[in-house]
Amino acid sequence: MKEILLAKYGEIILKGGNRHRFESILMNNIINATRNVAKIKARLIQATIYVEVLEEGKTDLVLERMTKIFGIVSITKAAVCGKTIDEIEQTAKEYLKNDLTPGKRFKVESKRADKSFPLNSIEISREVGGYLHDEYPELIVDVHEPEATVRVEVRELGAYVYCEENRVKGQGGMPIGTGSRATLLLSGGIDSPVAGHMIAKRGVEINAVNFFSFPYTSERAKEKVIELASIIARYTSKINLYIVPFTDIQLEIREHCPEEHMTLLMRRFMMRIAERIARQTKSLALITGESVGQVASQTLSALDVTNAVVDMPVLQPLIGMDKIEVIDRAREIGTFDTSILPYEDCCTVFTPKHPTVNPKRSNIEKSESHLDVERLIDEAFAGVELIEVFPS
Ligand code: ATP
Ligand code: MG
Repeated sequence: MKEILLAKYGEIILKGGNRHRFESILMNNIINATRNVAKIKARLIQATIYVEVLEEGKTDLVLERMTKIFGIVSITKAAVCGKTIDEIEQTAKEYLKNDLTPGKRFKVESKRADKSFPLNSIEISREVGGYLHDEYPELIVDVHEPEATVRVEVRELGAYVYCEENRVKGQGGMPIGTGSRATLLLSGGIDSPVAGHMIAKRGVEINAVNFFSFPYTSERAKEKVIELASIIARYTSKINLYIVPFTDIQLEIREHCPEEHMTLLMRRFMMRIAERIARQTKSLALITGESVGQVASQTLSALDVTNAVVDMPVLQPLIGMDKIEVIDRAREIGTFDTSILPYEDCCTVFTPKHPTVNPKRSNIEKSESHLDVERLIDEAFAGVELIEVFPS
């Protein structure tokens, strides 16, 4: 039996004049995201995306890929048949036999987009419902609380039959490429991958920067960051990851500045270097994973001190979330298990025993005045390594 994937997209419908641009970006993203999975033919008609999988046995893989494409709200497999009531009934009986098991409460809902079809939607539902009940007499008709909602859609290209309960949730959000670009400060922790995913979900293309303290942090720690980027790339396609050597900066801070300011001074360097990379890569904002109050460096005054050194928006999408909520998200998007691998992060190696909790800009600036900030940034920048990370 011929099967097709039907996808719904959400918010972009609301975008008025921009709608066509959004739709064509989404269609391109679908083609790109499935390129390595199977050959497909994708069409968009009347706010529904039809994806025909042209290779046998690959439909589920394509569906799984589509659950990671921002902009798609839901996807369902459907059987395709000719536009006659007989064919629709036969198809429903055969295709949905595992859904219409004895004792199930069911109903039929129909949609007639092709107005040349002789029955209207109510008549289609009545006919198909009656037929299925005859064929499967142990079904129970229940229009209020059905367990199986049989959907019949008669459209331009054919008729489609599926069970609503089998519809799979998509990511929602906006298609990547509709919202310029931002640079994610990606550590090996739980938070920043989630932050990146949340901003990407709004249609923003992302690249990533990681600060790396060789030899204090190991090659495995770097691989962990690459792996996190490759998980995020499942949603965004390829990510450019910039690895910045950070050890010299950390050693200089440790040597010349008060220990309790160490974390904030490091964070200020990270922000400055990330901003420089952002500007070179035409990113319009930075993304970080802080949430208020989580640790000493995430009090409001600490955020003030950290963000003061850059002149572009700093997006902190986790700012009001609890750790538990962030962890749930991390599990959902698939980064959690990698994030909790025990390899050290560049900062854990240089964490002060008693970090300042309520820092003032002036105090931190005074500590920082012992350093040649521009030279340190230039040197770190000169050692940046670019890794192209593909979806895993
Ligand atoms: P995460 O779970 O993302 O590591 P965190 O709770 O450990 O966050 P901090 O160490 O205060 O928080 O770091 C705050 C943010 O700074 C991180 O979310 C991340 O965006 C950025 N950051 C921290 N360390 C690094 C690093 N080594 N490389 C890149 N970005 C970093
Ligand atoms: Mg961390």
